[in-house]
Amino acid sequence: MKTKTVLITGTRQVEVKEFDMPEPGYGEAMVKIHTCNICTTDWQLWTGARAGRAKLPTAQGHEMAGEIVALGPGVPADLQIGDHVAFGHEGCGQCYYCKIGKEARCQNRIGRLTLDGQSGSFGMSQYLTVKASRLYKMNPDLPYEEAGYLEPLATAIHGCRRLRIEPGEDLLVIGAGNLGLVNAQVARAFGARVLVSEIQDERVKLAQELGFDTVNPAKEDIVEFTKKWAGEKGMDSVILAVGATKANEQALQVIGLTGKVLFFAAGYPAPELKVDSNTIHYREWELIGTMSAAPEDFMLSAKFLNTGVVKVGKLISYRVPIDEAQRAFELAATPGNYRVALKMW
Ligand SMILES: [Zn+2]
Ligand SMILES: [Zn+2]
Repeated sequence: MKTKTVLITGTRQVEVKEFDMPEPGYGEAMVKIHTCNICTTDWQLWTGARAGRAKLPTAQGHEMAGEIVALGPGVPADLQIGDHVAFGHEGCGQCYYCKIGKEARCQNRIGRLTLDGQSGSFGMSQYLTVKASRLYKMNPDLPYEEAGYLEPLATAIHGCRRLRIEPGEDLLVIGAGNLGLVNAQVARAFGARVLVSEIQDERVKLAQELGFDTVNPAKEDIVEFTKKWAGEKGMDSVILAVGATKANEQALQVIGLTGKVLFFAAGYPAPELKVDSNTIHYREWELIGTMSAAPEDFMLSAKFLNTGVVKVGKLISYRVPIDEAQRAFELAATPGNYRVALKMW
């Protein structure tokens, strides 16, 4: 099947090229992709901020959704032609991390393709053939660009599981960008009392529309505010949904004894964290990293999207046709915008 695919070819350069997508083999499905949302990882490769993280040209894109148009033999009957699906990651099942049940950290993740000498995840394509086990069924009433949140939402779920959220705990999310507001909704679904910190007024407003209490540390003292909001003990946990030295400082200022901090976001250049180990010892702090997601996270992500527990409709800023991919990347890289959905048709 002929497919148009978006390639990142250089700094601030994209190209739409045509490839031959193979028909599905044993255990595989071909998906007609309707949308692919441009992730921060994608546009930061485009701007050059993540130079070296992928060899150019590269076929990026992992936040896509579409419908099954062909099935190879050996696909279980719960997937049918016409089903709406979104894409998850899948581990190799063979490496050390897969074997110990930490599939999110698989070192040979399945899903990279090489077509006509070009390799990548090929999410920004009109058609994509993948192992059917990577597909998650999505509610057909959910717009495709919202179904495309399966992957980022799964990473937030993975993080909240690593944070071991307790019912009723006081949790601060720093940053009301895309993943800040997704993380905040997951933490709430996991039973936390959630406060969102953000300095841009537009984003503060959106956090409030989603039902969150907010604090703007550019206008208010965040330590004072959190002590009023959560009591003298301070916050029980913090999710850092921005990668910035200042945010790291604030996280350590607001957590109390036995506080937990989840480092959800990367920042470029790499943010610093200044803390001496005695403080971690005496205060029994936990500093937790997280990245990626495992199949159990994708399953819950699909459920949260399909049933409206997590709402992402307001997080789509623009919908741009594939032939205007250059403009789509420019919009995605514009500060203040949420997700930009590439429309493949
Ligand atoms: Zn992503
Ligand atoms: Zn593996």
